Amino acid sequence: MNGWSLFALSILLLPVFAGRAPSDTRIESVPRPPTDARTALYPSNREPLAPSPFAKLPIGAVKPRGWLRHMLRLEAEGFVGHLTEISRWCKAEGNAWLSPEGKGHSPWEELPYWLKGFGDLGYVLGDERVTREARKWIEGILSSQRDDGWFGPRSNLTNVGGKSDIWPNMIAMNCLQSYYEFTGDERVLPLMTKYFRWQASVPEEDFIVGSWQKVRAGDNLESIYWLYNRTGEKWLLQVAEKVHRRTIDWTGGVANWHGVNITQCFRQPAIFWMQTKDKTFRQAAYRNYDTVMGLYGQVPGGMFGADENCRKGYDDPRQAAETCSMVEFMHSFEMLTKITGDPLWADRCEDVAFNSFPASRTPDLKGLHYLTAPNMVVLDAKNHSPGVQNGGCMLAYNPHSYRCCQHNVSHGWPYYAEELWLATADGGLCASLYCPSEVTAKVAGGAEVTITEETGYPFGQTIRFRVMAPKPVRFPLYLRVPAWCKGASVTINGKPVEARPRPLSYLVIDRTWPAEADGDVVALTLPMRLAVRVWKNNKNAVSVDYGPLTFSLKIGERWKRYGGTDDWPAFEVHPTTPWNYGLALDADHPEESIQVTRPEGGPKTPGRAITFREPPILLKAKARKIPEWDLDRHGLVAVLQPSPARTSEPLETVTLIPMGCARLRISAFPTVSTSPDARAWTKPAGPPKPAYPTTASHCHGGDTADALSDGLLPKRSGDHAIPRLTWWDHRGTSEWVAYRFKQPRTVSEAEVYWFDDTGRGGCRIPASWRLLYQDGEQWKEVKLAGGATYALQKDRFNKVTFEPVKTRGLRIEVQLRPDFSGGILEWRIGPKPSP
Ligand SMILES: [Zn+2]
Repeated sequence: MNGWSLFALSILLLPVFAGRAPSDTRIESVPRPPTDARTALYPSNREPLAPSPFAKLPIGAVKPRGWLRHMLRLEAEGFVGHLTEISRWCKAEGNAWLSPEGKGHSPWEELPYWLKGFGDLGYVLGDERVTREARKWIEGILSSQRDDGWFGPRSNLTNVGGKSDIWPNMIAMNCLQSYYEFTGDERVLPLMTKYFRWQASVPEEDFIVGSWQKVRAGDNLESIYWLYNRTGEKWLLQVAEKVHRRTIDWTGGVANWHGVNITQCFRQPAIFWMQTKDKTFRQAAYRNYDTVMGLYGQVPGGMFGADENCRKGYDDPRQAAETCSMVEFMHSFEMLTKITGDPLWADRCEDVAFNSFPASRTPDLKGLHYLTAPNMVVLDAKNHSPGVQNGGCMLAYNPHSYRCCQHNVSHGWPYYAEELWLATADGGLCASLYCPSEVTAKVAGGAEVTITEETGYPFGQTIRFRVMAPKPVRFPLYLRVPAWCKGASVTINGKPVEARPRPLSYLVIDRTWPAEADGDVVALTLPMRLAVRVWKNNKNAVSVDYGPLTFSLKIGERWKRYGGTDDWPAFEVHPTTPWNYGLALDADHPEESIQVTRPEGGPKTPGRAITFREPPILLKAKARKIPEWDLDRHGLVAVLQPSPARTSEPLETVTLIPMGCARLRISAFPTVSTSPDARAWTKPAGPPKPAYPTTASHCHGGDTADALSDGLLPKRSGDHAIPRLTWWDHRGTSEWVAYRFKQPRTVSEAEVYWFDDTGRGGCRIPASWRLLYQDGEQWKEVKLAGGATYALQKDRFNKVTFEPVKTRGLRIEVQLRPDFSGGILEWRIGPKPSP
């Protein structure tokens, strides 16, 4: 009698308990997998490190299918798969990362950032071309080690005021770790060992100095433990202690408010906890997360507002997260899942992966932008500073730009794919992140099983696992039950079994899985329901969830090419339909005012049924426009005002689509009411208008000549908070900028505020300048008043007075300093025309 018959018989023999698990089957809901054992099947923490509840499976053990495979294929065909042709930092010729002597261009983070995801992309897809290309770079790194242990570009040895910069090598080690997990290449462990010997030899005060590496050295720590778990050399733990001592203190609180630093480093104490086993450290990662999200993450989508840094007062849902922050947050959550065994981290990973991350790139993964926000209604190439912190273009999709994100985005989906399944310490397997996939791995006793996972998740609620074992084998199967899920249920071979999995737990099915050609089928149903979250700290705005998905207003998109190349174009996306809606919700049962629907006729593209291109689920909601809600003076959706907003606009039915499918989006909605008690909103001042039409010999893409007469005044010459004109990247040239007047007017004074970003960029006060006026078709220089000079001062207006001229145009000519560019923040002229 085979296993299946035994199982069926046991059900038949227990009619009173129909629905109960078969007698040899243990089904229970546990908050964490056990940590009192150490898996012998896969590398995990050795003594004296705290035992790992989960171990990562070797790369290649998990084969992603369905939408994730589709995404990874797009990534291979998109800019990630072709960055050597697009990015100058990935140009092979003369690249420092390919040189055995570590000499050449691009020695810093960009190449390893890209390689880190690119290599894994090849490994998880089994893509020959990508794996071969990655191998070339890996060989370059492997060939570059010096006798003292240093590897990679030599310039990094003296990069920080004469001291070493180990930040780029931290990323390079991630590349090597994955490569080793995939190939077992015998050169990797000795290289890393020798490199950490070098780290041990650096005098303490010279080790990890300067900002980036000091903040981010938790990454280095993780690589040390990875190596220790494979070689067991105890001195490595002393290097780990030294690294921890030299890292900025993330245990006492959030040590730095840069978005990527937070997403990458908030976890650092939990990594070190594995060595100390003092729970203060583990707890600090939880607390860091809560601190940041409490202040800047009161928005849907799993991210927080840090459009470079978190800034006091910039916590509205229009504040965005950098693409680097998304992939680093996901990676941190994946690590913390394995370190703590807490399913909360996997929930948080899915939140970012489904709701925020997909919109960071174009649907074909051929372009990306720097910033993605829950409320974002236009993706143009304009400067939105200081509404977003950085000046210049941050929102349009461009595969040639955004330097760090352009390279670092590569690891988002490949790492995610590797973490779908994990090994448990008790010889089982855990479906940690749900996705169509197949896993082949060793379980208790060393038997190898294959489990296929079929599901429409996150767009569907049933997940079917088929367990295929060569012979009957007993092992526990762990299934994560997300926090949002009440009433999860499970069947084995179609028969319901009694299990009441609690939200935020693992359902364990521990049994002897029969040897069957077709295998046993476990079906898990995670009922998805509509839920409305109220963001009290964001003016009582609401967001609408359905299971793990959050929904956004569907906004019509007009894609407009603005640059790039024909093969790799850059696009702006503009709205074609109104977006200024608030939701009209039934206050007592908000979710009852919303309907779940599927698009008519199903998704249009066969084979792409479930992707983030074509939403397979739509919601219909009642809404009214709020006429006062508009763009503000920064050209961004105006910050929310209190809900409910008063409006007498007609009630309409609007469509909501999954946030991840929405390139333009409102995801944190005001609520609306016609009641006189509701709050009247005020209309924001719109984008500033230039006083005069302005032309220039040249203007950098992210800048605007309109900045000169927009009335926004700088605080200093290095002020990045307001729009500017720069002649970047023209250097050392003669340039000009001119005002045109509709009617001739009399002018006798002018004052110029020069842009100068010394310490940050390549713009300086020019070498000289002069002022001309239009006389007929000619431009003539003005006659300066007695004693007046063309001043060249920083941090102030440089005023000249001259003999009055009546003219239709005024022009500034500058001679830029050799090797430098220049720019102007504001240019005022006088006197004011008499009325
Ligand atoms: Zn970035």
